[in-house]
Amino acid sequence: MLENKARTPISEVGEFGLIKHLTENIKLKHATSLKGIGDDAAVIDNGGETVTVVSTDMLTEGVHFDLTYVPLKHLGYKVATVNFSDICAMNAVPKQLLISIAVSSRFPIDALEELYSGILIACERYNVDLVGGDTTSSVSGLTISATIIGEGIKDKLVYRNGAKEKDLICVTGDLGGAYVGLLLLEREKGVFASAPGAQPELEGNDYILERQLKPEARIDIPMLFSEIGLQPTSMIDISDGLASELMHLCTQSELGAQLYEEKIPLDPMTYERAREFNLDPTTCAMNGGEDYELLFTINADDFEKIKGNPDITVIGYMTDKNSGVNLISKSNSSHPIVAQGWDSLKK
Ligand code: ADP
Ligand code: MG
Repeated sequence: MLENKARTPISEVGEFGLIKHLTENIKLKHATSLKGIGDDAAVIDNGGETVTVVSTDMLTEGVHFDLTYVPLKHLGYKVATVNFSDICAMNAVPKQLLISIAVSSRFPIDALEELYSGILIACERYNVDLVGGDTTSSVSGLTISATIIGEGIKDKLVYRNGAKEKDLICVTGDLGGAYVGLLLLEREKGVFASAPGAQPELEGNDYILERQLKPEARIDIPMLFSEIGLQPTSMIDISDGLASELMHLCTQSELGAQLYEEKIPLDPMTYERAREFNLDPTTCAMNGGEDYELLFTINADDFEKIKGNPDITVIGYMTDKNSGVNLISKSNSSHPIVAQGWDSLKK
């Protein structure tokens, strides 16, 4: 029974507001709980040089995925890789995965086999062991929860709150593709609904469709940092869009930021398809989400270490808090950034 009679709708505060509301008074009891709520993963101190990092994520049918166009094998792969991504965002390496499913009677065993084949392919590729989980029934649809355990070196972990003023803001890969891929899938679903039997027109869009359906975690980046001897000052993975993630780095590091629109890396296909949808490609990168690239900051003195790397782009720098978080447009005007990233709990 609900004891508290006052009713505040969740949609008023959204996902982050709700998490804050529920967790802000939590105090950690154990010295081994090195990092609790608030980062891409929690950190557990084992007393030695290495630490354990843990993160969990849940995907719900109808909210996070639509099985009319998402193959279950891809879904399995994605559930795994999006969890690996949170470990990479700590500058750590994913090692063990637990998968829990709540499934309705609508799903035959074969469907769940498909899901698991995708999970296991990801585990194979990323050298992760599937070590447990839970299975239960659901009254409607499919919900999948994954918990990932990773390993990191205590002194090399990267948190969201370590950025310093004048640090360079860097991003891996390119942004916005996963969102434009989603729009394409949604469009074809709409076409199919109005004309059953119509064949989806998806040809020639492999890159953005893969970005949406089969994202990869940037496990190569912690390895690269180790090879080139680079210690980022802060880091987060891009699950909800560049704007939202940059806001997290700024809030937690108590800084502002200056971002340059012209520097934001976009794939040509993302750019063209966004335009066809009458969307601003920059907006897709800022607010689209699900790219699972890494956003991180480095000391400007470390620039030489990443200079010329085609996989890393410097997109701005950190400023003092009072300057706010701003996007400098291609026409050189400054616009305050508001995180409008995807939030399943907002209206
Ligand atoms: P991410 O986007 O990296 O998955 P989230 O935005 O989901 O991170 O979560 C932010 C932080 O809040 C994380 O540290 C996460 O563990 C924590 N968190 C999220 N939901 C809950 C919850 N229901 N109870 C406790 N902690 C939560
Ligand atoms: Mg994350």
